[in-house]
Amino acid sequence: MAKANLTPMMEQYHEIKKQYPDAFLFYRVGDFYELFEDDAVKGAQILELTLTHRSNKTENPIPMAGVPHVAVDSYVDTLVEKGYKVALCEQLEDPKEAKGMVKRGIIQLVTPGTLMNDKPSEAKESNYLTSVVTTKNCFGLAYSDLSTGEIFATHLKTFAAVSNELLSLRTREVVYNGHLNASDSDFLHKANITVSEPAELTGKHAEISYAQQNLTNQAEKDAVKQLVGYLLQTQRRSLAHLQIAKSYEVSQYLQMSHTVRDNLELTASAKTGKKMGSLFWVLDKTHTAMGGRLLKQWLARPLLSVEELTKRQEMVQALLDGYFTRENVNDALKGVYDLERLTGRIAFGNVNARELLQLAHSLQAVPSILSSLKESDSAILQKFASEIDPLSGIADLISSTIVDQPPVLTTEGGLIRNNVDQQLDRYRDAMNNGKKWLTEMEQTERQKTGIDNLKVGYNKVFGYYIQVTNSNKNKVPLDRYTRKQTLTNAERYITPELKEHENLILEAQTKSTDLEYELFVKLREEVKKYISALQKLAGQIAALDVFCSFAQVAEENNYCRPKFHTSNQDVKVVLGRHPVVEKVMKAGSYIPNDVRLDQDTDIYLITGPNMSGKSTYMRQMALIAVMAQVGSFVPADSAELPIFDQIFTRIGAADDLISGQSTFMVEMTEANEALQNATKRSLVLFDEIGRGTATYDGMALAGAIVQYLHDEVGAKVLFATHFHELTDLEQTLPRLKNIHVGATEENGKLIFLHKILPGPADQSYGIHVAQLAGLPRKVLRKATKLLNRLEAQGSNLGPTSAQLDLFSSNEESETMTDQELAPSTETELSDKEKDVLDEISNLY
Ligand code: ADP
Repeated sequence: MAKANLTPMMEQYHEIKKQYPDAFLFYRVGDFYELFEDDAVKGAQILELTLTHRSNKTENPIPMAGVPHVAVDSYVDTLVEKGYKVALCEQLEDPKEAKGMVKRGIIQLVTPGTLMNDKPSEAKESNYLTSVVTTKNCFGLAYSDLSTGEIFATHLKTFAAVSNELLSLRTREVVYNGHLNASDSDFLHKANITVSEPAELTGKHAEISYAQQNLTNQAEKDAVKQLVGYLLQTQRRSLAHLQIAKSYEVSQYLQMSHTVRDNLELTASAKTGKKMGSLFWVLDKTHTAMGGRLLKQWLARPLLSVEELTKRQEMVQALLDGYFTRENVNDALKGVYDLERLTGRIAFGNVNARELLQLAHSLQAVPSILSSLKESDSAILQKFASEIDPLSGIADLISSTIVDQPPVLTTEGGLIRNNVDQQLDRYRDAMNNGKKWLTEMEQTERQKTGIDNLKVGYNKVFGYYIQVTNSNKNKVPLDRYTRKQTLTNAERYITPELKEHENLILEAQTKSTDLEYELFVKLREEVKKYISALQKLAGQIAALDVFCSFAQVAEENNYCRPKFHTSNQDVKVVLGRHPVVEKVMKAGSYIPNDVRLDQDTDIYLITGPNMSGKSTYMRQMALIAVMAQVGSFVPADSAELPIFDQIFTRIGAADDLISGQSTFMVEMTEANEALQNATKRSLVLFDEIGRGTATYDGMALAGAIVQYLHDEVGAKVLFATHFHELTDLEQTLPRLKNIHVGATEENGKLIFLHKILPGPADQSYGIHVAQLAGLPRKVLRKATKLLNRLEAQGSNLGPTSAQLDLFSSNEESETMTDQELAPSTETELSDKEKDVLDEISNLY
């Protein structure tokens, strides 16, 4: 549209919109935020708003859609959760006082990485904004949860490593200074990560240098600068809660790719994406949201330091032994609000009186936590308590200043207690005296006039008045009273005296409200000085919450304290269980199993029927390792463990939707990850590798992979396979041991024992499992016959000719005997199979 045709308001709109082309511009007009033009069309559709038009009569009406300002948060959340950005444009002056166009400006840019959701269901979620910078030889990466102000920074060699961090953090938005090639940008798009341009910063910013102060690596410094710069640009408010960035290296922690985390279902079930069914679901008995978030952080970064782990274990042990201490601490923790996020809100300056009181109440719970810890007989707990500063001064200050039940609004009074401020008390006295005077006046006027139902009242338009019903109108002393308002059955009057007192009362009221706000802001600023002390305290409380949670889970589920050793990689788990599977099963029905891998055994080759528990057994081992390395106790009678440096998995057939690769390609990519990167200190889980391709192809690859892991890598490996032929590898690979999951038959029916036994499985029971699954008897009978025939032939038949055979025969019979169903005991290898195995052995 030609500029000349624009109204001044639309001109202003375009001026602002120009600066935020990639955001929805919410333009404040009175009680509404309006969307115009393309924003309106798109926004109306996404938010289900009515699309209207401005300047309807002109040739080019402007599409428009609006949302009431009181409900704006939910609309903004909806858009941002879908990956969009929203620029909130406010009226910066009172329209009544504005000369010409009301001044407007952007007060905040809400983006996916800076969204702060107050929904209780998301209290245990962190929302990370990540910043990535490319430098000559590496990538700098920094991330922060704006609601708590924590910042972490690292540097990485490859974009693949960067991608892995982004996915592991579940970041929604990345600020990136480099140029993305097509495949990287495609990857980020598929992972639903919004990519944002860095902010253009001018001048120095105290927040940046503060956050950077402990960093030495230049790439990390740059990443933090870019991160904080972006936050400053989008938030446009005080960010006093941003913390000093903590530098970390990925190799300081037990490393797992995001697929491994997902496969192991550390924080969410693979099927539902929800907490239920995950390790976090079992371990999380925290009472505070910050405890929940910290536990998630720990699960994302298990430790490598035995010293650190021992410290965590000692806390858990002390709380496990001290049942009453733990109960008392737990009770007190229930009264602690989200200190971390409250502190964030204090920094933003938008905390209200109720939230300050929540802070005070949270702080008031701390002394009882401390006394429980100090009164325990554990030196560790006493020491932990002695390091905590309960900040009681702040709690006292708040609760002695703010009334017990303050209103949400901070501008209309009723917040501050009596005896806090003398001037405020004087205003209040004046108000009270004025009101007392009114009551007395009512009495005396009744007597003077003889009007018994004479009343003194107040309304906003006329102020204080004297009301007389029509029946008594004739008794009104008109020499003293002036008529002000006529109602149907009454008249209202004023007197000069009444007006005089009204002025006093109203003036005192306005002044007291203003003063209350002033006092409130002063209090808020005072509390603001303690932000970093509050953050430290919040961190300590969160950790204590997690320790209590670990202790409780250990007690409820009979976990043991794992022992670590660093001189070798031996694993000795006695009667271990899968923490999640045992939880969803009837109590006591989970069959525990040992893992004993030592210098002479690196690889367990696991065979056994489908559904017998191979995969559960392998995951159990990985979960026990992760639990141990976050400081939790583990589901076993006893456990002696090495410190694993990395975990690799190839589990399940879930396609990697993000990279859009085929199942087999994913399978091979994951296998390759392990083969290339695993060390002697790693744990590798391979489940049914080679399943995604033709039988011999798959078997050959699986065999070659096992041998490579054995000869070249030396990691601890659990390798489940349905290729029985691979069990012969035990004869040539000295550190490989066959184990199998026991199953037995009863009356032709398969019974799973779920028990790990030495040696290879002798039967595959595939047809039995198919029978359990309820396949038509015709199919089962046919399969059994075919199997028996193949085995009897010691067959040279490849899969193709077997298939041909299957479809060429027309024999049928209605019933099937148990005899027919019973698997053949023939386990001789066919010539072809032997050839393949020979070839595999010759590869090395
Ligand atoms: P596989 O990998 O051999 O196909 P899974 O590990 O998936 O088998 O186990 C199949 C089911 O068997 C599990 O869902 C679980 O219900 C049950 N199961 C596995 N291991 C055990 C166990 N040790 N004790 C009891 N039930 C088990």
